[in-house]
Amino acid sequence: MKRRICSYDLAAVPEDGYVVTDDGGEIYLCNARYLCIWAVSLATKPGLTEELKVRRLVLKVPAGEELVFETITGLARWASSKALGTGRVRRDYESA
Ligand SMILES: [Zn+2]
Repeated sequence: MKRRICSYDLAAVPEDGYVVTDDGGEIYLCNARYLCIWAVSLATKPGLTEELKVRRLVLKVPAGEELVFETITGLARWASSKALGTGRVRRDYESA
């Protein structure tokens, strides 16, 4: 099998890593934390073009399931919840 290089730390990605696929190719990340950091960095990048924002992304998770996201922001939200260990978006604050 071809060696897969992590886009975050450039290490070899383990079998239970994450794979993001778009029209341009595949991106590999070692774990949920690196997926989160990569996705949030890209989603919040100043001057990100509309084309990149609405690019369809397919995420292959370690269990083998494939999740489809219509925007990088959607993927970043999912990855943040995953990395933070919250299964769904929760309200963690009190109103003033
Ligand atoms: Zn890595």
